Amino acid sequence: MKSILITGANRGLGLGFTRHYLGQGWRVYAAARKPDKSSILEKLKSDFEGYFYALKLDVGQQAEVAMLPSQLDGVTLDLAINNAGICHEENLESWSAATFASTLTTNVTGPALVAKAISPLMKPGSVLVNISSGMGSCELNINPGGGLDAYAASKAALNLLTRRLASKLEPRGVTVVAIDPGWVRTRMGGEGADLTVDESVGDITATIASLAPADTGRFMSRKGATVPW
Ligand code: NAP
Repeated sequence: MKSILITGANRGLGLGFTRHYLGQGWRVYAAARKPDKSSILEKLKSDFEGYFYALKLDVGQQAEVAMLPSQLDGVTLDLAINNAGICHEENLESWSAATFASTLTTNVTGPALVAKAISPLMKPGSVLVNISSGMGSCELNINPGGGLDAYAASKAALNLLTRRLASKLEPRGVTVVAIDPGWVRTRMGGEGADLTVDESVGDITATIASLAPADTGRFMSRKGATVPW
């Protein structure tokens, strides 16, 4: 049975990945800040006994992230998706240290520490996916007049982290990629977004399934096309 860890699994894309891989018969470790408060995760626990495990994980809490290997009980991870993320909108006049710090903590430090904690549980052929955003492309520099500056900077940083992790984990045969999910109807994406969770998750999971070791270090769209750095 293949095993996967997903962060931010209680709603949005994270819940979509959770449902997808449960449907494929995988053993799913669904990490969330408050798993006990999620009726959805509680229901999945009873519906998929033996396949579904809910873990408590705030990716911004270093001590909690460090406990991940023991929570995972030494399982070998075939796939991990660093999905948890936050996004604040703040115009130039109201930029604040608090917003930049919390955004970078959740969107960059979190995935970095998760990768550090779980990489010993990965084997040759395992895959680590960092959920990025087109907003993190320096070349595209989408809507620079808008207020998603801390978010865009955090995803650009996550992209570089992806490349650096890819180099570090390549000798161990682990593939690391950053994937832009597109604009998706979640709490973050809003109701006017282009894609449903199922559409985005369907494309991303197909792309993940077709990854080869040579793809390591790439920044990709949900359909596998190269996104410019
Ligand atoms: P969402 O519906 O807002 O869900 C975000 C998830 O992240 C929630 O489960 C949330 O948990 C979790 N989370 C936030 N901070 C966390 C922390 N410190 N520790 C652990 N979990 C935390 O957003 P989404 O659209 O599904 O986003 C998923 C990923 O896709 C994010 O990385 C986002 O940047 C990326 N993305 C989304 C879009 C889009 O259009 N939706 C576009 C590009 C990229 P709580 O319920 O506890 O808050």
